Amino acid sequence: MVKKNDQLVVTIEDIGTNGEGIGKHEGYTLFIKDTTIGDKVLVKVMKAGKSYGYARLVSIIEPSPYRVKPRCPIADKCGGCQIMHMDYSKQLEYKEDKVRNCLERIGGFKNIPMEPIYGMDEPYYFRNKSQFPVGRDKDGKIQIGFYAARTHSIIDTNHCYISAEVNIPIIKFLRTFIDKYNIPPYDEKNHTGLLRNILTRVGYSSGEVMVCLVLNGKDIPHKKALVDGLRKIPGMKCICLNVNTSKTNAILGDEIIKVWGEPYITDSIGPIKYRISPLSFFQVNPIQTEKLYSIALDYAKLNGDEVVWDLYCGIGTISLFLAQRAKQVFGVEIIPQAIEDARTNAKINNINNAKFYVGAAEEVLPRKYKEDNIKADVIVVDPPRKGCDESLLQTILEMEPDRIVYVSCDPATLSRDLKYLCAGGYELKKVRAVDQFGHSAHVETICLMSRK
Ligand code: SAH
Repeated sequence: MVKKNDQLVVTIEDIGTNGEGIGKHEGYTLFIKDTTIGDKVLVKVMKAGKSYGYARLVSIIEPSPYRVKPRCPIADKCGGCQIMHMDYSKQLEYKEDKVRNCLERIGGFKNIPMEPIYGMDEPYYFRNKSQFPVGRDKDGKIQIGFYAARTHSIIDTNHCYISAEVNIPIIKFLRTFIDKYNIPPYDEKNHTGLLRNILTRVGYSSGEVMVCLVLNGKDIPHKKALVDGLRKIPGMKCICLNVNTSKTNAILGDEIIKVWGEPYITDSIGPIKYRISPLSFFQVNPIQTEKLYSIALDYAKLNGDEVVWDLYCGIGTISLFLAQRAKQVFGVEIIPQAIEDARTNAKINNINNAKFYVGAAEEVLPRKYKEDNIKADVIVVDPPRKGCDESLLQTILEMEPDRIVYVSCDPATLSRDLKYLCAGGYELKKVRAVDQFGHSAHVETICLMSRK
């Protein structure tokens, strides 16, 4: 029997959904953070349940051939990158296997038509959006950085190896600004202090930069010095405040106060321009997103006569990309603000064949189909983690589109939904994983289904 505090030698055989290593001791499964497939390790059991437990890495007895020294010196402490200690090509293999395994196990698919995973050419400095919480350590020293895994203690750093490099001078400057003018950081326990978070966004093709300071209040002192310092950073286009005075884990509040510049930045994916305000959702890895959308366009196989539905459309990113080659695109999204952004984005690109509806996809699509008898040649879905509502899948089957393109951030719910669609008369034609989040355990997948 494995018990708490036992020290055991384990060989890591698999990686769990959160990037942790999985090994067995006499048939008993242990989850061990910071280990990777092929490592032989000494571990200490922290928690032992009936059929599985959690252990902490004590030492590496024999490193896996896939183990590398993370480029980021705080990778093991920071909650951001779970698998930076794994060689990047092995990360890709692991992600591709994860998709294949889900499709086999949950979807019941065999001989899956998988195309090779689309990895990043440069898996560093790729994120266009970063959030740096601000606080103090127990000695009262200012801390700016990232939360440690599963906690709210801040790991202090100026340098994130997966975020835009312009963050380095931004955080360096803000550190001196906070020090010089004694700007009080937010104290989560007592709900006191002012500066909670630093949000930055960068347009990778435009070079435009946004800094948004999230405050437990409506104003920050010494704005002139703040603006003077930030303006010197190349690309600075938008400096603003976000008001979040509630006692909450949510990073952003609803109110934005402009301090300097424009209230948004602009970026493009392929030929399409997108306006990004501090609160809008935008894909965080623009280079891989362009690859993903190009695959979507390829799978949709449009020749200009098609009616296309883009369900879960966010700010219309995929819709506008597809509108270039379709007769008409309809986008559906549940957040009204995102639909406003989608309409603005259509306008600034002079796209007139995209129409957007606010509402739940599982309500809007059946209504439009039954009441207005609107048809669909191609349906694209890009749902959140939990996948599509079964009633939505049912409507899709009734509408009988020639092709369905499914973009997914969770291979398990993807597999469940594809199984349903296949039982309803569709055939899985192509599957491709795309790495949007290097060094994390997440994987994005895109699939093409055709009507039999
Ligand atoms: N396709 C977009 C966004 C995908 S993220 C892009 O590539 O940028 C998933 C989106 O689904 C989010 O914007 C979320 O707000 C939206 N959403 C969640 N549940 C929904 C539902 N039931 N109906 C419609 N949209 C929903």
